[in-house]
Amino acid sequence: MIRMKKIAIIGSGAGGLITSSKLAKELSKEIKNEEVSITLYDKKTEQEFQPGYLEVAFRGTDPSKIKKRVNKLVNPGVNMVYENVEKVDLANRYIRTEGSDKNRDFDYLVISTGASPDYEQIPGLKEANRDFHTNADKSSLIYNEISNIKSGKIVVGIGGLPYKCPPSPNESAFMLDEYFTRKGIRDKVEIVYVTPFTRIYSAESISEVIEPIYKNRSIESITTFNTDTVDPEKKEITSLEGETLKYDHLFLTPPHKTAGFLKGSEYSDEDGWVKVDKKDLHITTYDNAFAIGDTTNIPISKAGVEAHLEGIVVGSNIIGDIRGTDKNYKFTGRTQCSMETGFHKATFVVGTYDRPVEKIEPSRMNYMEKKVMEEIYWSSLRGHYEWLFKYHFKEDYFLD
Ligand SMILES: Cc1cc2nc3c(=O)[nH]c(=O)nc-3n(C[C@H](O)[C@H](O)[C@H](O)COP(=O)(O)OP(=O)(O)OC[C@H]3O[C@@H](n4cnc5c(N)ncnc54)[C@H](O)[C@@H]3O)c2cc1C
Repeated sequence: MIRMKKIAIIGSGAGGLITSSKLAKELSKEIKNEEVSITLYDKKTEQEFQPGYLEVAFRGTDPSKIKKRVNKLVNPGVNMVYENVEKVDLANRYIRTEGSDKNRDFDYLVISTGASPDYEQIPGLKEANRDFHTNADKSSLIYNEISNIKSGKIVVGIGGLPYKCPPSPNESAFMLDEYFTRKGIRDKVEIVYVTPFTRIYSAESISEVIEPIYKNRSIESITTFNTDTVDPEKKEITSLEGETLKYDHLFLTPPHKTAGFLKGSEYSDEDGWVKVDKKDLHITTYDNAFAIGDTTNIPISKAGVEAHLEGIVVGSNIIGDIRGTDKNYKFTGRTQCSMETGFHKATFVVGTYDRPVEKIEPSRMNYMEKKVMEEIYWSSLRGHYEWLFKYHFKEDYFLD
């Protein structure tokens, strides 16, 4: 009798869902024959479409519109365990969940626990700031606040590194500009964008594209501004460079942190990001253990497209290992983040490990592509649109 092979996936977000979907679809026969099991761990019973946080914060979309119950998202054959993982012992190959003393063993492991705001890093930020990176409900507080603004100074931008979705702070500046322009009070509202980078966007090609938009729309930008402290009483931010900036409203993107159980583990770096091979995503010192998505230490964007393509690579290699077929699939480093520039236009941040970020002018066509992606997002995590992903990404889909 064949011993059942146990696959454990931690995190039911963008990376964890697509990996579980691919495995469950392609290994359905093995699952039916009890040769393979797939278990997905996450305390959350509901997932959110994170790119939608911008729409909630700056266009007033109802938060409930971007939420979906996890049990509607997992494919048949995936066992959900609604518990938080608090320990992963890779040497002895077991997982412990919060409040349990049971060791749950695995043969294959995929960690996709994402990244979340870390307010501890910047004194005063938590009290002073509203962000659109925590969850849908918190994002809606921004819309409540801007709805009451008649005049004043809004400071947005990058509060610290790393964070997810690199274009999102720039998008917040453009969307605020659109909001107040449509309201007819743009001349009464000052919008200031701050960034620790030496230019408006970290990649030069995108900076060249968006700098003129900042100028044309009178959005001020302050580069090389590393937020050090915030004084909520005086409504002031001070940078490491010694600059002090006044604000009336503060919507900074906070620096992000990894899941608690990863900090201090021997397979993570000093900040808790999991050390992986940037092409096959295996955790560098272990076999059949992988990490994907925002939680890895790969120095590329923390974005959903990467999590998705990485999940496909890891899923394909696990299937190859179980079946004794090809297991040499590799991630190309492909990124594709949309950047809305306001008034129904968008650009994309597109690059790979081998190709620098392209220069793509904002257009309505790009905006429509972004909207199509929103429509198919949830089904794509169930693996329904792989033909489209393959067609769209071509040789960047994966290397074989
Ligand atoms: C405002 C905003 C705009 C964005 N726009 C885009 C965009 O246009 N394009 C794009 O590609 N990406 C975008 N993103 C980024 C994208 O949403 C993330 O990069 C993507 O969700 C990462 O997937 P992941 O699987 O790594 O993490 P997540 O999707 O965040 O999932 C992580 C999961 O792990 C779970 N978890 C954490 N710790 C534990 C634990 N201890 N035990 C069990 N489970 C745990 C969490 O509960 C969560 O469900 C945006 C993000 C934001 C905030």
